[in-house]
Amino acid sequence: MNQGERGRERWVLPEVGRRRFLIGAAAATTVVLVGCGSPSDDGPGRSGSPTAPRKAVDPVDAPAAGADGDVFTLGVASGDPTTTSVILWTRLASDPTADDGAGGLGDDDIAIAWDLAADADFSRVLASELISAKAAHGHSVHVDAQGLEAGTDYWYRFRYGDQTSTVGRTATLPDGSPDAFGLAVVNCQMYEGGAYGAYRNLVDEDVDLVVHLGDYIYEYPGGEGAGRHSLPNRMLTTVGDYRLRYASYKLDPDLQAAHARFPFVATWDDHEVANNYMGDTVPGDATPEQVEERKAAAYQAWWENMPARLDPPDGPDLAVYRDFTMGDLATLYLLDERQDSAEPPCRDTSTAGLDYGNCDDVDGEDRTRLGADQEAWLADALGGSATRWNLLGNPVVLAGIDAGQDESAFYLDTWDGFPDARKRLIAQLADVDNPVVLTGDYHAGMVLDVHEVPFDQDTPVVAPEFMAPPISSALFDADVTGRTPQLRQQINEYGYLVVAVTPDELTATFRVVDDVADPDTAISTAAVWTVAAGDPIAQQT
Ligand code: FE
Ligand code: CA
Repeated sequence: MNQGERGRERWVLPEVGRRRFLIGAAAATTVVLVGCGSPSDDGPGRSGSPTAPRKAVDPVDAPAAGADGDVFTLGVASGDPTTTSVILWTRLASDPTADDGAGGLGDDDIAIAWDLAADADFSRVLASELISAKAAHGHSVHVDAQGLEAGTDYWYRFRYGDQTSTVGRTATLPDGSPDAFGLAVVNCQMYEGGAYGAYRNLVDEDVDLVVHLGDYIYEYPGGEGAGRHSLPNRMLTTVGDYRLRYASYKLDPDLQAAHARFPFVATWDDHEVANNYMGDTVPGDATPEQVEERKAAAYQAWWENMPARLDPPDGPDLAVYRDFTMGDLATLYLLDERQDSAEPPCRDTSTAGLDYGNCDDVDGEDRTRLGADQEAWLADALGGSATRWNLLGNPVVLAGIDAGQDESAFYLDTWDGFPDARKRLIAQLADVDNPVVLTGDYHAGMVLDVHEVPFDQDTPVVAPEFMAPPISSALFDADVTGRTPQLRQQINEYGYLVVAVTPDELTATFRVVDDVADPDTAISTAAVWTVAAGDPIAQQT
C-alpha cells in the first residue's frame, strides 16, 4: 500500500432499512468508515451482494511495521451486527498507559490489514483489506464487513508487520423466523470495584449478542495503593484523559475475552461522561459550555472505543439510539437517556450530586428524558414493529423505585424524575406486542412490573422490567422493597443477566459471581424468571 492509498477514506452508507433511515434522518449523518482502499474495494461488488455467498480470497500483505512494540494491546471487538454485516474494531496502542492517552503512537495514521474468515483457523478467508488507523480517531478502526450471510458465525483478526491480533469471533443477526435468540445484558463495570470475573464466565454462556447498558467506564480519579486502579489518577476532562481510561479498562484480559467472543451493542449512561450529567448539566457549578466541552471529549473517546455502527461524533453530539431486529422474533431498541435530558428537578449540592429526594417539580410535560428527536424515532420504531417481542435497552429504571425509608425518596435521575415523559413511553409500550424492559444503572439485580401508572398496583402491568446486576460497581445494597410494591425481587449481587427469547417465551436468568474481587470466581444462577408471550406478568421458576 502506498502513501496515497493510505490517505484515502471511503464513506459508505450502511444498509438502509426504514428504521435505519429514520435514525439517519435524526442523526443527519449515519455513515460508516469502512477503511482505505485496496483497489478491490472501489468496485460496486466489493462486498458481494447480500445474498451471494462470499468466495474465499487470499489475505493481503500486512503493511510493514513502523511503530515499535506490540500494537494490538487493547484487543479486538465486534458489534452492531445486521443480517449482512458487522463492525470489526481494534485500537492500536504500543504504550497503552502513556499519560497523554495517545497510546505511544504519536500523530501518524497507521495502516493495518484486517481479515474475516469462515473458520477459526482462517483457512477460508472471505475478506482481507487494508485500513488506516487514524491518529484523529485514537488509532481505532471500525471496519464494516459487508456481504455476509444471516445468522452465521465469522472470525476476524488484524495484522501489522509480523504482528497478528487476537482472533475475534462474531455473528450476524438472524433473519426469517428464528427459533431462539440469546442476549447477555451487562452494565456498571467500575474497574476499582472488582475484577472482571463476570466477563470471564460470560464467555462460556450460550448467547448471540452482548448488550451493554452503560457505565462502561467511570470518570473518577483511578486512585493508588493496594487493589485495582485505572489510569489516570485524576478526574477525566480531556479527550486524552478519556482515551487513557478506556485503554486502562481494555487492558483487562477478561473484558478483552468477552469482546473477542461476542458481538456487543452498547449505549451509555452517565459515567461515560460524568456522574449524573443530564443534557448540558452536571451536579455542581460547571457552566453548560464546560459540560459541552467535556461531553465532546467523552463522546469522542467512547466512539473510538466501541464497535458501534456510528460515524464519529462532531462535538458534544452523537446520536447513539438505534435498533436491532432478530427476524420476526424480536427487536431491541437501545436508548440514550442522558445526552438530551432535562436536568433532574430540585437538584442541590447537599445530596452529593445524587439527585436524591422527593420533589413536586418532577411534573411538566416539557421535561424531556429522551429529547425530541429520539422520542419521535422511538414512537415511529415501536409503531412500525412487526416482531413478537419488543425489548427496550433502557439504561435507567422505568418502573419506579421509592428508596426512602420513613418518607418517599427517589433517585431523580432515573425515570422517577420524569413522570410525564415516562407516561408517554409506557403508553407506547402498551401498544406493541410483548414489550420487555431491560435496565441497568442501579447496581442491583431486580425484577419489576411496569404498571400503566407506576406505584399504582390497581393499574394494568404493561411490561416486565429486568435490571441487570453490575459487573463490578459497588452494590446499591439497600432494601427498597418497602415502598416499591411493583418490585418483585431484589438481588444484591454482581454479575449479568442472560435473556433467552423464543416465539413462546422469554427467560431472564440472573447470573451472579461468588466473589467480585476474584477474576477466577465461580458463577451461579440466583433466579430465573419467565415471561409467556401474551402475558406481561413475569413468573419465577
Ligand atoms: Fe453505574
Ligand atoms: Ca449510572
